[in-house]
Amino acid sequence: MESFQQVAFEQLVAEVAACRRCPAMAGRRRVLSAANGPLGARVLFVAEAPGRRGAERTGIPLSGDATGRRFERLLAAAGLSRSEVFLTNAVLCNPCRAGRNRPPAASELAHCRDFLRRTLALVDPEVVVALGGVALRALGAIAPHGASLARVGEAVSWQGRLLVPLYHPGPRTEHHRPFAQQLADYHRLGVVIQRGRWDATGQA
Ligand code: SF4
Repeated sequence: MESFQQVAFEQLVAEVAACRRCPAMAGRRRVLSAANGPLGARVLFVAEAPGRRGAERTGIPLSGDATGRRFERLLAAAGLSRSEVFLTNAVLCNPCRAGRNRPPAASELAHCRDFLRRTLALVDPEVVVALGGVALRALGAIAPHGASLARVGEAVSWQGRLLVPLYHPGPRTEHHRPFAQQLADYHRLGVVIQRGRWDATGQA
C-alpha cells in the first residue's frame, strides 16, 4: 500500500506536470518525478533550474551535461550517491532565451515557490544543500535564513533542518570557486552529514 507521502508526492508531480503559471515555460519539461530521488532522503539539494542540455533532456536534475558530470564528482567527494539524495531546482522548468539557458525571472521563482516548499515538506530531509545564490534566495523566500555564499559550507539551522550553502556546480562557477575548492567543500559536507547532528546554534 502506498504511504501518505507517496500519494501526496504523486499528486504534486501531477500538479507540476499540468502547471501553466509561467508563459515562457510553455512546451518545457516539468522536472519533478520519482527520478529526482527517494522520499525520506536525508539530504536534499536545490539547484537553480533544469539545464537545456541536462535535465530538460534527461528529466533528472543535474545530469546529462557538463554540470551534471561535475556534480557527480562532487557528490562522490561527499561520500554520497544519487540513489540516496533528492535533487530539485528553484524552478522546475528550463528557462531559455534564444536557445540558451537564462536565469529564472523573479516571477518564475515566485510561481514555483510553493512547489519547492511542498517538496521539502514531503521529502523531509535532515540536510538541505543550496547550490548557488538563486537557490539560497528561493529558500529564503520560503523562510528567512542566515546562510550565505560569503560563508560557503557553513551550516545554519533552518526550519528544523540543517541548511548548507554551496556554489552551483556549473562550469561558470569556476571563476568564483575553483573545482578543487568545491571538492573540499563537498568533502566537508560529507563530514557534516556523517555526524548527523548539530547543536542548537546550528554549528555542525
Ligand atoms: S517553472 Fe514552476 S511555476 Fe513555472 S511553469 Fe514550470 S512548474 Fe509551473
